[in-house]
Amino acid sequence: MFQSHIVVLIAGLFALQMAVVSVVLRRSAGMERSGLTSWALGNVFVALASVLSAVQVLRPLWLMPESTDLALLAALSVMAVGARHFAGRSGRTAPLLVLNLAAAAAVAWLELAPYYLSAPFLATLPAMPQMALVLTGCHIVLLLDLARSIVPSVPATRGTGRLAALSLVLIAIAAAAINAWTMARPLAEVVHGGALPRPMPWDGELAMLNVFALVGISVSFALMAHDRLRRMLERRARHDDLTDVLLRGAFWEELEAACLQAERLHRPLTVAFVDLDHFKAINDVYGHLAGDSVLRHFAGLLRKACGPRDVAGRLGGEEFAIVMPDTPLENGRHTCMRLATSVRAAPCPSEPDPIAYTVSIGLAARQPGEGADALMRRADRALYDAKLKGRNCVSMHPSGSDAGSDARNDGAAANGRYVTRSEPRVVS
Ligand code: GH3
Ligand code: MG
Ligand code: MG
Repeated sequence: MFQSHIVVLIAGLFALQMAVVSVVLRRSAGMERSGLTSWALGNVFVALASVLSAVQVLRPLWLMPESTDLALLAALSVMAVGARHFAGRSGRTAPLLVLNLAAAAAVAWLELAPYYLSAPFLATLPAMPQMALVLTGCHIVLLLDLARSIVPSVPATRGTGRLAALSLVLIAIAAAAINAWTMARPLAEVVHGGALPRPMPWDGELAMLNVFALVGISVSFALMAHDRLRRMLERRARHDDLTDVLLRGAFWEELEAACLQAERLHRPLTVAFVDLDHFKAINDVYGHLAGDSVLRHFAGLLRKACGPRDVAGRLGGEEFAIVMPDTPLENGRHTCMRLATSVRAAPCPSEPDPIAYTVSIGLAARQPGEGADALMRRADRALYDAKLKGRNCVSMHPSGSDAGSDARNDGAAANGRYVTRSEPRVVS
């Protein structure tokens, strides 16, 4: 059977591995401010605590009895700062540094004072607090602070991330409770004026429990960090950097899924194909950076115009699209008119003058049995019609008509026609 100091050393080895895991995760792009550096350092302190704990078992006279507790205090302090950074709360580094230094100074004083001060002088000093109790109290506060930082992220995450956050919170609370329970009786004795042995008999077991708890918490934290990294990469793979709407591939997946669902549930589905008018002229007149600002500005208006279930994507260049599940053509037209009106009413802020621009939109409602490709082709034809009609307008593809003739179907197009009152400045 392994002896306790071997077991705690093995836990220390795990802590070192978790330090390496934290460093590796920290090196991934986008994870710079996730508190992982603090967790790497915290795990090194946990490994140190495990070594000190083992030395205390083998050579009790070599170390001050509170050494392991001090190393655990340092570990918990940096982990608490790291957890706060991860949660987006500002880390309180300075008070924790002061707390650690004060605890180390108090322990050193407790150890050294009998050697340097005469007995009568020592007797005049107030009784030194039981440091093991004070340090355990600090451990409890820091464990609860760790849990408090992570609790808000539990409902906000899903899957692995939520499981990891939950396990971190549970381990931290359980460890705090066991520390408090262990502390209760000696605390009562101190309150009633009783003296406690130094070291206290259960110090070794408590240190081992805390080392294991911190290794468990570190595993949970690494899983949370990994989950954040995975979600960030997934988001980057699906979203356009410039406009933050879905990229073509991701948009197409959503469109196909929406078509399948509409077919299965016999629900209406409308798609809109949106193209910025004379965008090349905007680039030519104002420059490509200004053109990028216009694209970003338009994407903001697009997101605002979309309903909660609508999905917007950038198909390429200055072409965007919207999938509107559960939406008949007429409702889709309202959404698109709102979008086109907001674009015209709110030019893109720029120096020296705002850049006015317009959009043309082609709309099509899905017909029974129709797939994503055919539907988008009809919306594209409606867009072509909108361009032919002078741009700055919304055109609807009439359902059930011949695909070749619908672009010239003036009656239907005129229905959705959006008449410009004043020509935007960029239109030449
Ligand atoms: P129309 O009204 O017929 O749609 O004319 P247009 O000028 O908007 O269309 P055209 O296809 O001639 O030009 C699109 C331009 O969009 C050409 C290309 O340089 C520009 N463009 C494509 N992607 C980007 C981008 O990411 N940023 C910027 N600034 N320009 C882009
Ligand atoms: Mg265009
Ligand atoms: Mg275009």
